[in-house]
Amino acid sequence: MNSSMMGTPLLISSLIQHAANVHGTVEVVSALGGGKVHRYSYAQAHSRSRRLAAALTALGVEAGDRVATLAWSGYRHFETYYAVTGMGAVCHTVNPKLFVEQVRYTMQHAEDAVVLVDADFVSLLEQVAPSCPAIRHLIFMGARGDMPQTTLPNLLCYEDLLANADDNFEWPALDEDAAAYLSYTSGTTGNPKGVLYSHRSTILHTYSMALPDSMNLSGASVIAPVIQLFHVNAFGLPCAAPLTGAKLVFPGAALDPASLFALFESERVTMTAAVPTLWQQFLLYMQKDELRPSTLKHIVIGGSACSPALIKSYQEGYGIQIRHVWGMTETSPLCVTNSFREKHAAWSAEDRYALQGKQGRPLFGVQMKIIDADGNTLPNDGRACGELVVRGPWICREYYKGTTPALTPDGWFITGDVVSIDADGYMQITDRSKDVIKTGGEWISSIQLENIALSHNSVAEAAVIAIPHPKWDERPLLVVVARPGEQVDRDVLLAHFRGKVANWWIPDDVVSVDNLPYTATGKVEKKRLREQFKDHQPSGR
Ligand code: ADP
Repeated sequence: MNSSMMGTPLLISSLIQHAANVHGTVEVVSALGGGKVHRYSYAQAHSRSRRLAAALTALGVEAGDRVATLAWSGYRHFETYYAVTGMGAVCHTVNPKLFVEQVRYTMQHAEDAVVLVDADFVSLLEQVAPSCPAIRHLIFMGARGDMPQTTLPNLLCYEDLLANADDNFEWPALDEDAAAYLSYTSGTTGNPKGVLYSHRSTILHTYSMALPDSMNLSGASVIAPVIQLFHVNAFGLPCAAPLTGAKLVFPGAALDPASLFALFESERVTMTAAVPTLWQQFLLYMQKDELRPSTLKHIVIGGSACSPALIKSYQEGYGIQIRHVWGMTETSPLCVTNSFREKHAAWSAEDRYALQGKQGRPLFGVQMKIIDADGNTLPNDGRACGELVVRGPWICREYYKGTTPALTPDGWFITGDVVSIDADGYMQITDRSKDVIKTGGEWISSIQLENIALSHNSVAEAAVIAIPHPKWDERPLLVVVARPGEQVDRDVLLAHFRGKVANWWIPDDVVSVDNLPYTATGKVEKKRLREQFKDHQPSGR
């Protein structure tokens, strides 16, 4: 029997339309550099998105065409995000931090028909566009007076297109299962792989991520997505903000701690999100200059493991709550967020920090379990470790152009993360399966060792990698960056591990470096470190 309910499709355009209708005067602010900002309302953002959709239609863009962006987060990127998806085309947010060859690969693979580029990435596009034959139009995301000197042919001007566009564009009623966004994995193993999010998957993800135990967003929030639109759609925040009526503050290109701190203060930001390394640098900056944010209350951290030490520094030092989250490009990205249950109020502070160091429990809509090498389900007892598999309406079932991701025979997505899940449903990552340290037939968790290293006050950044060992196959090596003004003492640091893990887990040696290598998505490049230190001979071996 059919229900009596309307079959209104779940469409991304409804988010910006809702924001214009219900939160019309709420601001969207974009940092332009040098302390300058652009500000306007959701109503204006909606109107300009519709004009852009009209302009793209007039240029011949059709439903299903891929329209790429090469841009920092800002109001024009936000408009493009809604215009392209709202008209039924697919918004491919290219990650300009990838190697040039990978940028070229993703744009060729996507067969992008139009590229919108901001001033900072014009030279990158000059290198890539000539080898992308599918491109029909190039648009500079700026005003006529700011058009760059460029070798790009027939570069159109965004503001001119908008000024001349039809003002009466109406969002079409699309199929909610149609593709809306195209996001590529960062290709740490092989070529980047494309994941197509649908309107439906995006809306369901957006509802779920706004909830109190997810990102806790509301009309009282002022959100600064420091994670960029080109990295898994900024965790979905540019969709959740219009849904809730939160004010949105885009930091643009200025991601250094001083610029971020000034922006958070001037725009009264309450909530922000990015990868752990950025918040580590932000913390050091605040400590050095003895600064205290006056409105910032919540930071969402994901993309790599966030150590309990970092969580404690923010919560105890600044009263800023840290929320650990886990996700992947293939999972839209948010699947797991860490928030307390009622019973945790009675726990000791240390136990609560340890719990917060776990990645968290699944959002409604996401199912997860752990399996062993034979595909058997392992118990949720907080001890058994296996491969995490997930399924749900915003989880990828195939990559763009048909390649199948790793799926179990019964259709669960195999994440490549080795984890445990406790009886309360909290998942904790041991490692990515390719980073696990295998020693004498047993596994050592590099993340657990890194968290211990980071709890020592001489250490700012830490990575534990496997180095070959003649007897044990692999042994852990700790690579650290010292906190400013501190020296890392190998023996003191190794002694810091005693009593916290079994003795055979303690790293064989400590190496101090000036910087750790990071990928385009803010993860330590362990492959590179393993290569760099493969011949390292620990002292005393
Ligand atoms: P890629 O870098 O391969 O494109 P993503 O950017 O999609 O991958 O990142 C997904 C991976 O990031 C996860 O599989 C996991 O290994 C890691 N990750 C994400 N969030 C966390 C977290 N909170 N703690 C530890 N690892 C995380």
